[in-house]
Amino acid sequence: MSMPSVAPLDASKLTIELTKEPKDLPPTSSLVFGQTFTDHMLMCKWSLEKGWQTPEIKPYGPLALDPSSTVLHYAAELFEGMKAYRDKQGRCRLFRPDLNMRRMQSSAQRLAFPTFDGEVLTDLIKELVRVDERFVPDEEGCSLYIRPTMIGTRASLGVGPSTEVLLFVIMSPVAKYYASGAKPVSLLASTKDVRAWPGGSGAYKLGANYGPCVAPQLEAAQQGYQQVLWVLGEEDEVTEVGMMNFWGGKRLPDGTTELFTPPLGDIILPGVTRDSVLALARAHADPSHPFRLEGLPDELVVSERRVCMPELRDAARDGTLCEVFGTGTAAIVTSVERIGYEGEDVKVPVDGGFGPMAQAFYDVLQEIQYGSREFADWSVL
Ligand code: PMP
Repeated sequence: MSMPSVAPLDASKLTIELTKEPKDLPPTSSLVFGQTFTDHMLMCKWSLEKGWQTPEIKPYGPLALDPSSTVLHYAAELFEGMKAYRDKQGRCRLFRPDLNMRRMQSSAQRLAFPTFDGEVLTDLIKELVRVDERFVPDEEGCSLYIRPTMIGTRASLGVGPSTEVLLFVIMSPVAKYYASGAKPVSLLASTKDVRAWPGGSGAYKLGANYGPCVAPQLEAAQQGYQQVLWVLGEEDEVTEVGMMNFWGGKRLPDGTTELFTPPLGDIILPGVTRDSVLALARAHADPSHPFRLEGLPDELVVSERRVCMPELRDAARDGTLCEVFGTGTAAIVTSVERIGYEGEDVKVPVDGGFGPMAQAFYDVLQEIQYGSREFADWSVL
């Protein structure tokens, strides 16, 4: 169910008010993820009576909200995460923004928020990136993280549709995720706390899914693991890695290698990086497709299928488990070296670095994102 929108979101009406106090550009070496923001933000208000009002780019600053706003009581909030990358010619590129827009619209429908034309919002985001272009780093591996957000601003304590909504976009320059070299991480399989469940909202990017992940994350850290591996149900079905999609690699009896990831549905967020890795792996595995990716086995079987912890443990024991990694916009790819499960560590043979498949996807995705390699028009100017 989504709310009808009266006036559509219209990029041609955009007004721009430039800041009188431009910030000093931070050196990329000092950047901590998500703590430095650009000079401007995009704001688009919506109400049931008027529809979308004039979009505005204005100086970055605090929001004024009525304390009864639905976002503050019932977590009426959704967000997206995407990046702008500077190519060798100095131009700014977005990576598959259409997929972020599609996911944002699906999250909006889940919250009965108004929808909007994804191409119009992409145009507005491009304009915001243009206004704050000096914040897009030109160093290798650095980028500008973009956070589109929607919140319910109706001033009422009743639980009901948000008749007023604010869509805003803020941006944050970010350094290379693995500044001191690619290192694999350790995971603790969480058999007590669940991130998402059948019929729940785990497939949508709602703030309400993220707050409850912090305490389990701290518990994993106390036990010496860096991130949580979210598992579900009696069979300990593997779902996601921290805030990334899960991937495993296994050698099959016929000598081929299987690359597998859980199928989409209620419990998996449809990651843009997940979709991209699937497409690249399938192109590589298809003899009639010209794309080949060095580092991937020639004989590759690509599966979207259910995977449970006992299977991973058995594959590690009999030596057929070759890789585990996670994918997401922030780090692109993160290799996994061990998974704590039922009191023991399931070991992945990655030798302190990234596994070959994780490394291959990491490298090619960066090449495409920074515009030095073409694939399916994913990188847009
Ligand atoms: N799963 C979860 C739970 C996430 O929060 C994210 C980050 N958006 C992802 C997977 C990866 O999605 P994407 O590749 O679009 O960043």
